[in-house]
Amino acid sequence: MTIDKGKSIGILGGGQLGKMLCESAIQKGYGTIILDPAKDACAGQIADKHVIGEYNDRESILKITKQSDVITYEFENVTSESLSIIKNNGGYIPQGMEPLYISQNRLREKRRINELGIKTAKFKLVNNDNSLNEAVDIIGYPSVLKTCTGGYDGKGQWIIRNEEDKIKANEEIKESLEKRDYILEEMINFKCELSCFVVKSTDNSLAVFPVSENIHKNGILHLSIVPARVSHEIEEKIKKISKKIIVGLGFVGPLAIEYFYGADEEIYVNEIAPRPHNSFHYTMDACDYSQFDAHIDAICGKNLKNPKLIKKVVMLNILGQDVENIERLCLKDGEKLHMYNKGKAMPNRKMGHLNILGNHTEKILERINEIKNN
Ligand code: ATP
Ligand code: MG
Repeated sequence: MTIDKGKSIGILGGGQLGKMLCESAIQKGYGTIILDPAKDACAGQIADKHVIGEYNDRESILKITKQSDVITYEFENVTSESLSIIKNNGGYIPQGMEPLYISQNRLREKRRINELGIKTAKFKLVNNDNSLNEAVDIIGYPSVLKTCTGGYDGKGQWIIRNEEDKIKANEEIKESLEKRDYILEEMINFKCELSCFVVKSTDNSLAVFPVSENIHKNGILHLSIVPARVSHEIEEKIKKISKKIIVGLGFVGPLAIEYFYGADEEIYVNEIAPRPHNSFHYTMDACDYSQFDAHIDAICGKNLKNPKLIKKVVMLNILGQDVENIERLCLKDGEKLHMYNKGKAMPNRKMGHLNILGNHTEKILERINEIKNN
């Protein structure tokens, strides 16, 4: 189905990803409506309408369904019940439940990726009192224990380097084992972390974005460097695997895929997310096609463009603690600041990002150091 300008796009979620999706939709001539329980959700500042309600509240879901010609989501934790309400009431949600169902659970996600013949870290389910011990016997040290569901920005994770860490983690998860599952993953010794963003339109056309190299600080994305500092061969390999995943899983819409490029030269998938991704915010300024434009085009059945990198770029995330420093900054040519207007600048809260374009990655990184020491 093709959704043309003048129609309305409904978005479940009204954070910064929802806001940037709205910006793209508005530019393309669509109406926008978001569902978010927070009165001050930042996408509410620009969407035509904001339904204030929980993601599982039937009345609120019915409201957004009635007013939208197509519905999408900007985060993974929407439930299948909510999507069923949309579908059963005539709502059109081309991505469906499958991308959420798979990406909501780390175990399911890794199994499906492995079924496609693609590598992930070795893993083992941890779901009872003794299973962390058993899992460590198989996976060994060092390893990472993660909640199967609901983790983000490195939350809900324990690094297990030795017996002592194992005992401590076991103590901490013991009480919650009745209601949630965990997964123990082999810790990958990586050269770098990479990500790819692939999008499939309902007309079946594909867009594959330039691979990003990602540097995390305290479990949160800090920098995305594009082009990634890897060989052309690795870049192409990542793009090929990414296409295989979106096609193999039968998804439409956006799919961000996080990878480890191992010291052993192997490529491992870390996780997938069927929504715009922080490591592709660079596309807003450094590509001829942004991740948000591609997401909107895909759900509206438009033919996707083949995205090209126009300039080298590094994206710097601006967290609550960085805001004052950034506000003092005198921006130079090629430095594009995007603040989300999210209210209180709490520590580690994502408040904005800065894309710095240039001809030499090393020079951009020097400028970032200068900014940080400002
Ligand atoms: P985000 O929301 O930032 O994507 P998340 O909470 O979903 O994060 P992961 O992406 O699984 O969690 O892990 C966060 C970071 O921790 C990774 O980007 C990587 O730096 C490190 N990490 C996680 N799992 C592993 C692993 N198996 N081996 C090595 N490093 C890992
Ligand atoms: Mg991640």
